[in-house]
Amino acid sequence: MNLDGNSCVRIIESLHDALYFVNRDGIITYWNKAAEHISGFKAIEVVGKSCSDNILTHIDSEGNSLCNGRCPLTATIADEVPREAEVYMHHKKGHRIPVSIRVSSVADTNGQVIGGMELFTEISSKGANELRIKELEQLALLDPLTQLANRNYINKEIQSRLEEQKRFNVPFGILFIDIDHFKNINDLYGHDIGDNVLKFVADTFVSSARPFDTYGRWGGEEFVGIIRNVKSQDLELIGNRLRMLIEESYLVHEDEKLQVKISIGATMVHQNDTVDSLIKRADALLYQSKASGRNCLTIGG
Ligand code: GH3
Ligand code: MG
Ligand code: MG
Repeated sequence: MNLDGNSCVRIIESLHDALYFVNRDGIITYWNKAAEHISGFKAIEVVGKSCSDNILTHIDSEGNSLCNGRCPLTATIADEVPREAEVYMHHKKGHRIPVSIRVSSVADTNGQVIGGMELFTEISSKGANELRIKELEQLALLDPLTQLANRNYINKEIQSRLEEQKRFNVPFGILFIDIDHFKNINDLYGHDIGDNVLKFVADTFVSSARPFDTYGRWGGEEFVGIIRNVKSQDLELIGNRLRMLIEESYLVHEDEKLQVKISIGATMVHQNDTVDSLIKRADALLYQSKASGRNCLTIGG
C-alpha cells in the first residue's frame, strides 16, 4: 500500500497509542493527539523542546531518572536497536503515570538515522477508575477536589474489608499518609496552587494503585490507602514505592518545580480490629514517621 504524506499524518494523529518523534539532538519534532491526551502537554508546548526539559522525564520503578545517561530513546538512536520498557512518566498536572514505552530509530530514505520515535500507552486501570468515579459521585462518597473516595467511603470500605477478613481470612493493610510541610505550599504559593498539589498527589495514588486497592482522602492533606490481600512486607513495599513516586513528582508553576514528600504509617489488620482501632494505630505510626524526620514509612503491628 502506498500512502501519501497527508494520509500518514492522519493515521498517526488518530493512533490510540501516544507517539512522538525526536531529532538526533533529542528535540521533539512531532507529538500526536494521544500523546497530548495521556501527558497533558499540547504539541505546541513541547515541539522544539527536549523531552528531559521538565516534560516526560521518565523514571524507573526505583525512582531513578532515565534522563541522565539512561534514556532508552537516546540509546536506540545511537545503536538502532529498538527497546521496550515500563516507566513512570510525568503528567503536566504533576502526577506520575505508569506507561509502557517502545522506542525505535527513524531513518531517512538513504538509511541515515535522523532521530527516534517513542510509542507509549498507559498501563493503569483508567477505565475502571472512571467508572468508579461515576458510581461514587452518585452516592456522595467522593471528595470533590481530588475525586478520591471521601472519609465516609473509606469508613464503609474498611468495615467491608474487616468483615471479609473475619469470614474468609483475607488479610489487608492500611497506609495512613500525610503530606510533609504542606502548609508551606499554601503559604508560599496560595491555596489554589495548594489544591493543585493535592490533586496531583491524589492522581499519583490512583494511577499507580492496583485495581482492587482503594485510596481516599481522609481530610485536609491526609489520605488513606486500603491495600488488599497483602503480607506485611508487600504493604511496606507498596507504601515505599508510593512515597518514592510522590517524591519524584512535580508541578511546574511559573518555571519553578513544586514538589512535596509524604510520611506514612502502615499497619496490617488484627483479628479484633475495628475501623477506629485500625485507623488509630496507623495514625500513631504516621506520627512516628513525622517524628523520625518525615519522608519515611513506619510499619508496625
Ligand atoms: P506536617 O509535615 O507536620 O504534616 O506539616 P503540615 O504543614 O503538612 O501540617 P499542618 O497540619 O500544619 O498543615 C496542613 C495544611 O493543609 C494546613 C491547611 O491549610 C492545609 N489544607 C488542608 N486542606 C486543604 C485544602 O483542601 N486545600 C489546600 N490548599 N490546603 C489545605
Ligand atoms: Mg496533617
Ligand atoms: Mg502534613
